[in-house]
Amino acid sequence: MNRRDFIKRFLTVAGLTLIGEKVCAESSSIYSTGNIANRRSWAKYEETKTQGIKNDESFAVLLDLTKCIGCRRCEWACNEWNKNPNRPLKEFEESKDKKPSVFDKTRRPHAGEFTVVNRIYDGNIPIYVKKQCMHCIEPACLNACFVNAFSKTPQGAILYNPSLCVGCRYCMIACPFDIPAYEYYDPITPQITKCTMCFDRVAEGKIPACVEICSTDVMTFGKRTEMLRLAYEKINNNPQRYISHVYGEHEAGGTSWLYISNVPFEKLGFPKLDKKPIPDLSKNFLFTVKVLEVITAAPLVWGAYYMLSKIKKSEKGVNISGSPQDEKNKNEGK
Ligand code: SF4
Ligand code: SF4
Ligand code: SF4
Repeated sequence: MNRRDFIKRFLTVAGLTLIGEKVCAESSSIYSTGNIANRRSWAKYEETKTQGIKNDESFAVLLDLTKCIGCRRCEWACNEWNKNPNRPLKEFEESKDKKPSVFDKTRRPHAGEFTVVNRIYDGNIPIYVKKQCMHCIEPACLNACFVNAFSKTPQGAILYNPSLCVGCRYCMIACPFDIPAYEYYDPITPQITKCTMCFDRVAEGKIPACVEICSTDVMTFGKRTEMLRLAYEKINNNPQRYISHVYGEHEAGGTSWLYISNVPFEKLGFPKLDKKPIPDLSKNFLFTVKVLEVITAAPLVWGAYYMLSKIKKSEKGVNISGSPQDEKNKNEGK
């Protein structure tokens, strides 16, 4: 991602924000989540700081795209565990063969749905791609947030604290993977939502809910170093089956979700990123945005102050002289 791409993303997110507000206002009843998952994981994180944790190593999920059959059970399990709005499992499993199908459109995670599976064609061959927060090693969302609402846990999960968030959405602009979602349906206290890497489960020695339910062993959860070793073992043992690229090993400084595939990742909609962490790029840009906000806010504040003093003076019966209208009146002898 270069600077031009980054600015393009900023404008896109701004546009999507406007569209999203309309779309989500129409479907507000569907996505009322209360952000239980993010609150619960943050509370668990606070707890582990004082009481220790069963799993205290840096973890990763290795996702083998050649094995996914698009059953969407992982979506169901994620909704179920995180207390997001859900439907019967059967509806998820059957959606692939329905017309119209959920796969007709490319989706992204949103408030109330932290992971989505998309279908992308390589020629006539469908490839199913699960998408969720990548839990970056150098997270751009964390760096962009000026109230420090994000935290990087020693276990690799990037967590979000809803009670600190002011709703500026800089994290949405900064994330190179389009992950943080916004509760557009909530006009009073909207928050960001995203996958927590099931921190509340991992802290208790369990594996993420989506990993656990997958019946075709698409995902493997373990130490990041071990997952990288496994990825290369699979690639080297089956060079005809896999391309020689572990997505997430280096992209944007490395991520805690790692992918292997038989098709180049660019063809599957994965952003082409270099090894440089995104925070380096976003820092200057977001600083400029903040400065611009101050500059553009100043005339508004001055204008408001001027209007207020004018009203106060006219309430006291004081004539305000010096305005263009006064000059005109004087000249016309009024
Ligand atoms: S990752 Fe597993 S559970 Fe999810 S759609 Fe693919 S096969 Fe199904
Ligand atoms: S994928 Fe996006 S939201 Fe997730 S940790 Fe990375 S920058 Fe943050
Ligand atoms: S790790 Fe947990 S929160 Fe993230 S997609 Fe899987 S089930 Fe959902």
